[in-house]
Order: sequence, then structure tokens, then C-alpha cells
Amino acid sequence: MDIQSFAWRHIGVRSEDIHQMLSEIGVSSLDELIDKTVPAKIRVKDLTGLDLPKTERKFLTSLKNIASKNKLFRNYIGLGYYGTVLPGVIQRNIFENPGWYTAYTPYQAEIAQGRMEMLLNFQTMVCDLTGMEIANASLLDEATAVAEAMAMLYSARSKEKQESKKLFVSDTVFPQTKALLETRTAPLGIEIVYGKFESFTGGDQYYAAFVQYPDSNGEIKDYRSFVNLCKAYGIKVIVAADIMSLVLLTPPGEWGADVVVGSTQRFGIPLGFGGPHAAYFATKEEFKRFIPGRIIGRTIDKDGKPALRMALQTREQHIKREKATSNICTAQVLLAVMAAAYVIYHGPDGLRVIARRIHHNAIRLSQALEKLGFRQLNKSYFDTIRIAVSEADVLKVKKLAEDNQLNFNYFTPGVVAISLGEATFDDSLEDIVKVFAGVADKQPIALEPEVSSCIQDELRRTSSFLTHPVFNSYHSETEMMRYLKRLERKDLALNHSMIALGSCTMKLNAATEMIPLSWPEFSDIHPFAPEEQVQGYLQIIRELEKDLAIITGFDSVSLQPNSGAQGEYAGLMVIRAYHQSRGEGHRNIVLIPSSAHGTNPASAVMAGMKVVVVKCDEKGNIDVNDLKAQTEKYSHQLAALMITYPSTHGVFESSVKTITDIVHAHGGQVYMDGANMNAQVGLTNPAAIGADVCHLNLHKTFAIPHGGGGPGMGPICVAKHLSPFLPGHPIVKTGGKQAISSISAAPYGSGLILIISYAYIKMLGAQGLTDATKYAILNANYIKTRLEKYYPVLYTGENGTVAHELILDCRAFKRDANVEVVDIAKRLMDYGFHAPTVSFPVAGTLMIEPTESESKAEIDRFCEAMISIRHEIEEIINGDADKSENVLKNAPHTLELLTSDEWKLPYSRQKAAYPAPFVFDNKFWPSVRRVDDAYGDRNLVCTCEPITSYVEN
Ligand SMILES: *Cc1c(COP(=O)(O)O)cnc(C)c1O
Repeated sequence: MDIQSFAWRHIGVRSEDIHQMLSEIGVSSLDELIDKTVPAKIRVKDLTGLDLPKTERKFLTSLKNIASKNKLFRNYIGLGYYGTVLPGVIQRNIFENPGWYTAYTPYQAEIAQGRMEMLLNFQTMVCDLTGMEIANASLLDEATAVAEAMAMLYSARSKEKQESKKLFVSDTVFPQTKALLETRTAPLGIEIVYGKFESFTGGDQYYAAFVQYPDSNGEIKDYRSFVNLCKAYGIKVIVAADIMSLVLLTPPGEWGADVVVGSTQRFGIPLGFGGPHAAYFATKEEFKRFIPGRIIGRTIDKDGKPALRMALQTREQHIKREKATSNICTAQVLLAVMAAAYVIYHGPDGLRVIARRIHHNAIRLSQALEKLGFRQLNKSYFDTIRIAVSEADVLKVKKLAEDNQLNFNYFTPGVVAISLGEATFDDSLEDIVKVFAGVADKQPIALEPEVSSCIQDELRRTSSFLTHPVFNSYHSETEMMRYLKRLERKDLALNHSMIALGSCTMKLNAATEMIPLSWPEFSDIHPFAPEEQVQGYLQIIRELEKDLAIITGFDSVSLQPNSGAQGEYAGLMVIRAYHQSRGEGHRNIVLIPSSAHGTNPASAVMAGMKVVVVKCDEKGNIDVNDLKAQTEKYSHQLAALMITYPSTHGVFESSVKTITDIVHAHGGQVYMDGANMNAQVGLTNPAAIGADVCHLNLHKTFAIPHGGGGPGMGPICVAKHLSPFLPGHPIVKTGGKQAISSISAAPYGSGLILIISYAYIKMLGAQGLTDATKYAILNANYIKTRLEKYYPVLYTGENGTVAHELILDCRAFKRDANVEVVDIAKRLMDYGFHAPTVSFPVAGTLMIEPTESESKAEIDRFCEAMISIRHEIEEIINGDADKSENVLKNAPHTLELLTSDEWKLPYSRQKAAYPAPFVFDNKFWPSVRRVDDAYGDRNLVCTCEPITSYVEN
């Protein structure tokens, strides 16, 4: 590795360490280790076709050049995406701060209280603004949130409604939402009936209805009698609402909506060519056990003090599997955190000022254009006006607007729609007026300074919102900065220590990969901007697609899915379309190994397929005999096998080609879950193992940070025969000739963060990417060698090595010492480490994945912590430590506990807090003691209410 190359920075192990690591493992070279680990018959030669690696500096220079091909127009296109103003304090302290963006999903509650507090703020904000009772901690985008509402209400249908399979959808909802609903309803057998809500007459066949508020034209419609009609028929009502408008409008919760969803992009989040943005999802208490995604709830810790944790985790995918009705795993935590911070920074009064300014600007603009002789079609509106113009004049408007770098919405013939945002000020309004004056051949009209609202009286908001102190305390930058720091300090992220979460690939998210996200040439681009303005983005997208195709050995790529699970769903829908195109639409069985991640069966069910579980043998491999039996039994119905490779057990199964051949012989397709791609890049690939389609978690293998539980990206890569079916989009052409309808609201998913993976690939190049894989495998095997004397390693490959992760079996400690695997997880916090993955894919185990980015020194510290914990377990077994009052059961130890005047525990404070020498240097203090999950689920509170309002039931 070239000293000072990006690979040298990205990979943690130094050349002087390798020799020692290899000799501990018992091999003479890195290549020997790789040869022992990755079966020869699936090895690929190299990654021919990728560019040579660029240094960080060269990369940024070349990217600036590409960025300049994006044209920075002011955007009034609307359709769910608006110009915003991201406060500097949020940009610097959250968006550009690894303390926030490198954290993981808050599985370990005690070291994630900060981001959970912000997510609780987010949920409270959503409940307040929508007038609903309970909200989740974000979904992937608005269209997905609508689809999740459609699915949730379907599975929650009452007894009387079991035969109802129709969904009424108003004509005036966003086109991208319609497209996504069409994708998602088809496999479930739900029929969409489009129409005008005013002429909807109800009926028992309908189980739900969906309207938009304000509607896709920008008009504020009064849905109250419509909702009453729906209620009379037991039809549940879904409303997609613009959250900024709800500052001024009667919230849907006050006129009877059952589910309210939307995007929080308007709360300071950059356009980013379509994302990432956090969608919100709010509903009534009665649906709380059906809500998709994650919910943060209040509970208490071991001392009875208030604490937060992810509520109702028994609903999580790995438990619900094929009974799940949603596959949401990664969501949009970082964006939800930013939106909540925006609301906290502005407070209710600040939001009112912003919302009123947007609204009044729209009216002022409308009046000026009407004075110029134009007809404005919207009567009651929040931010969108529609100017009726002849076809000829549309072209004139467009020409003049583009000359002035303004984008309007021309999607309706004979209409120019203009949606204003927070970023619209008088100078821009004047420029818009000039365009229309030019078309009318008149002098521009001056804007009125003051106007009154055009919202009908009965739909003006009268209820208060955001009354909780958190929304009324941090309005100066100093206060805000300190509040953000206070929360950040409670959370352990990659800027503190290694997070060895198996299957999650918590690698370096390099600063140089992140820097361009703040460039306006990338952040200020509307996803539906004309093609000629987004050439920079399109170049990045085309190159990234090409590079991912090379890496996976496949033909083509869709960058649309916003998470791995959405990629699974997209891939299965592509397989479904392929079978249908061959007259084999009856193929609907998906074989899934018992070790699979829970999203696999959940995605299969959403794609209308039936899940048949394939057994694993005692070595953790797919039981080939069982696979043979199942494929023979279901030969004519077999749609696909979903396989994770290397397996979730951390092993390269050598029989993988046999397995994929068997599936193909029965007419099935092979879907590879790409979550473990970090063990493959450059050494083997999904095509080589015989797969037809895979997803990639760009937030695992390709360096997008996890953001505390999102954003993510889950593009799918497919073999040639599946390329025609890649997902399309209703506004921007994407996908193949026989494209399935869309999977995400935006054509390329979360465009902004594609730049991170692009940067990662361009700076590493073929050699660096391959080296990254080799070092990931080296590090995992080094940990195995160091720890196997203390903990049984559950699965290894034929030559006794593991892939990029390994599973430690902790089940015997339960019997011998009453120590559960969670006790080990919590004790690691006292050593300053985040636990590995707990009880997945096997209950009672820890799955460790170090990644290539960790140094030997850090890996050694982690191993020492694990070894020291093993000794602590031994003390319990020996009787040297108490069976219940010991360092494991009481972990984590807080500063408050340790410094209290009383200390009654039968071990020293130093042993509790500083159990190893290296801890003195880098102590992390959990902010709460062990949280009580069960208490929180019994007393579900998911908004910022005072803890005293709890009543134990
Ligand atoms: C992470 C993971 C998923 C889900 O991916 P998301 O991006 O969180 O939706 C699926 N399968 C496996 C094996 C995973 O590790």
C-alpha cells in the first residue's frame, strides 16, 4: 500500500502489524489466509474496469469539476421537495459531525440516550403538528410512508372488513406516491380506485382511502365530510400532509384522519436530488402494535430513573419474520434528528414566522401575477399557486424562467405551478414576477408588502403545538450548540471506539467522502429538475452504476431503493416480473434459510410470495439435502432462493454453487442479500456464486455512515435477463424496457449520499477495494485466534477460518454463571465499547465484525476487554464473585452510581468503572443504568411528557 494513499488511511492495520497477526493466526501470508477462506471455485481475478485510485485531494478537485455540471437553479417545482434553510448550528454540529452521523441504530440504549432523546422530540413534534396520538422515529420517504399506511391498515382490518380489498386514492396526490402505491398494492391483491374525493360514495369493498393535504395542486381541501362518509363505512383515512403547512392548518388529527404521513424535508433538510429526507408516520393509539419502523419510548433504568429505548422491539423483523407486515429496518434517523433540531431551534414562534412568510409570499406572488393579467387557479392554498397559460405561453415562461435560472413546475398541460419554500425571499419573487411580465409584455408589478391569508376560516389552525419546554428553550445559538453537545456526549459513535456490529459493517466514513455533501451544487438540486441541469449527478450515477456492476459481476444496477430491505423487495419484484413475462407468474415460493435476516421473509411476503424455510446444518451451512427436498417439492412454484453470502454465520459456504445450480434447475432465481459484501469485493462476487440479483447496503460496504439508524441506500444489481425489469419512475425515466413501477419516491433514491460511495470507490480503486476485503477478513480471523481460547467460536469454514465476522457462543455462561449475553453486551460499555450484534443470527451469541478500518491496537483493546470479561465470568463460576451482585449484572455503571456517598456493592468502584488499564485514557460514561425494556412496553409513552404521568398497570 502506498504510504499516504487513501487506502492507507482507510485501512487500519499497519504493515508492521501484519506479520504478527498472521503468525498468531498460523498462516504465512495474507494471501494464504484468503485462499483458505474463500473457496477457489468462486474466486474472481480482479476488478478490471475500475478507475485508478485517486488521492483525497485529486478526488475533490475532480469532483468539483463534476459538481460544476449541476446547474444551481432556484427551485419552485414542489411536489414534495422545497428549498430550505439549514441552520449553520445544525449543519456543523450534526450533519458534519461524526459524533452524530457515525452512530448505529440505538440497540444499546444506555449509550444511545442522546439520539433517542432527539428522536423522541421528533415524535413529539410530529404528534403535535399532525394532531395524532403516536408517531414513529421516521420512514424512508413520503411515498413509502403512504404505502406503509396502506399495508398497516390492511393487516389491521377489523373482522367485518376482512373481505374489503379496495383502496380509494384521490386523483390529486403526488404522482410518485401513486406509482409507489401501485407497486406495493399489486402483490397484496389490493385494488386501487382513483377518483375525486368529492364524488366518492363509500362502500363496504373499501378498507381505506388516501388524500393529500394540501393536495398535489397545492389546494387546501376541506375533507371533513369525506372523512365522515368514510367513517360511516368503516373506511380508514390516510392523509399525506405537508408538515410545514400544518403550522397554519387544522391538523388532520382534528378532522378524523387515522394515519397521517409526510416528509419532514421542509424542516431544514437540503433537497439533495431527492434525499435523504425523513418521512414521518403518525397514527392513533389503537394501531400502536402495527406501526412500521422504529418507535422510541420512555421507560426507567435499574434505579427507576427515566430512560429511553426502542419500544416494542419484539416487533422487530428478526422476530416477526414472515409474519411481519413491513420490512423497515434502516430508516432515516440522522434526518429525523436534524428535522427535530430545526424545530427546536426555531420553536413554535419561529415556525409560525417561517410558515406565514412562505404562505404570504405565495399570496403576494399570486396577486402580482393576477395584476399582470394572469389567472391563478388555486383558491385556498399554502405555498403553491397555479397560473393558467396557453400552451404557447408555457414555452415562453419556461424559456424566460430558465434564462433567469428559475425552475417552475410544468407537469400539467396549460398550467405553470410555482411552489415556494423557506428559501424564497423578495428578490426571488421579483425575478418570478419579471418572467411573467416579460411573457405578458408588461412592466413588472411591485409586490404588496402585506396580505391576508387565503385559508378558509374553518381550516385555520387554532390549537397550540410544540408547548413542551424542549421546543421553547434553545433558540440562541449558544444554547442550541450546548444542547446538541449534551446529547452527543451521551452517545457512543465511531469517533469514540470500534463498533464491531456483525452484519452491519461499521467501517470508516472518511471525511473526504462526506465533505462534498455540503456543496450546494449537490445539496440544492431538485430530484425532478430538468435533465440538462443535473449532468453532474447523472455522471456520478452512471459511473457508480458501472462500478457496482463490475464489483458484483452483474449487468445493470438500479440505485432507487433507500435501504437494504427495500433492495430486497425491489429485487423480488423484479424476479416476479421476470417470471410473469415468461408466463410463469404462478411461481410464488421463496426459499429462505433459517439463518436469514428477518427482512428477507418480510420482503418476500410484501412481494406476494410464500416463504418456505430451508434448514441449516450444525455447521451453519444450508442443509443441501433439505434444499433438494424443498426444490423438488415446489419445483413448479419455485420463484427464488434468498441467500446471504458469506452466510449470516460468517462462513463462505463451499457448496454455494451446488445450491444455486439446484435452484436454477428448478426454474428459480437466486437473490443474494448483499449485507456481507464486505467479505466479497474483489475476491468473489454474486455472479460468481450463481446469483441473479443482489442488493448492496451502501451504508455497510460502501462507506455511507449509519447515521444512528439511517440514512442508507440499497441499490440492486442484476444479471442481463433481469435488466429490463429494473424499477421505473413516473417523472424521471429510469429502469429497463419492461420496468416495474417505482420503489422509492425519488428516481435515484437518496441522490446526495450516493456521492459517498462514489468517493469510496474512486479513492480506493480496484486494489484498495480488494485490500479492504482482505484486511476485513484478516482482522476477523485475528480476533478469532485471540478469543477462541476464551469463547467458543460457533462456525468456521472448511479450513477453520472465518469470513469477515465471527460468532461467539455465550450460551454456556447462562448455565454456569447465570450470565446472559446481554450482560456481556452491557459490561462492554464499562470498557468503552459498543457491544457486537447480540443474538443474531443465533440466540445467546455475539457476532463480531471488526472491518478493515480498525487498527491492531484498537482490536487488541477490544479483545482484552472480552478476555477480561471472560475472567469476570470465571469469578462468578468459581464463587469469587456473587451470582447476582457482580460487575456483569450491574453493568453498565454510571458516574452517578460510582460517586454516590454510599457504595454497597461487593466489588470496588475501580473494578466497576476502570476494569482495564486502557480505559483510563478513553472512559465513556453511560448516562443511564440498565434500561428496563418490559416496563416501557407495558407503559408505552412515546412523546416528551413528564415522567410523572406514568401509571404502572
Ligand atoms: C442490514 C441487513 C439487512 C437490512 O438492511 P437495511 O439496509 O437495514 O434495510 C438485510 N439483511 C442482512 C443480512 C443485514 O445485515
